[in-house]
Amino acid sequence: MDSQKRDENAPQQNPNLTPEQIYVLRHEGTERPGSSPLNYEKRPGTYYCAGCGAPLFTSATKYDSGSGWPSFYAPIEGSIETKVDYKLLVPRTEYHCARCGGHQGHVFGDGPEPTGLRYCNNGVALTFVPDDPEDTAAER
Ligand SMILES: [Zn+2]
Repeated sequence: MDSQKRDENAPQQNPNLTPEQIYVLRHEGTERPGSSPLNYEKRPGTYYCAGCGAPLFTSATKYDSGSGWPSFYAPIEGSIETKVDYKLLVPRTEYHCARCGGHQGHVFGDGPEPTGLRYCNNGVALTFVPDDPEDTAAER
């Protein structure tokens, strides 16, 4: 995948989304905890929006929160937007791709330094691309 080229283009909707990806991205659904292989992804690389290919996170800010969802302490600057979500009794801060509006997850105040934030992301809403294409996860 040529991510650099895609980044320069106008927002593109991915026509090949799975039903679960549509549920998360378009209907603010939440995947089952522990269901995403990205929970165990530790290679250097970039996490792109599954809906449009915008870069949202890098492996440098990923950490193991133990929550069952891929977690980051900071997004790539300007890549996401937030809004307050009143779906539960306690308001949560929802965040989504700034380019296509696709829902990604929620941000909480119990993350590690330096931000103290936890971006709790649905794995199906992300596409991971390792820096080194020959660095296969199976080798770890
Ligand atoms: Zn997007």
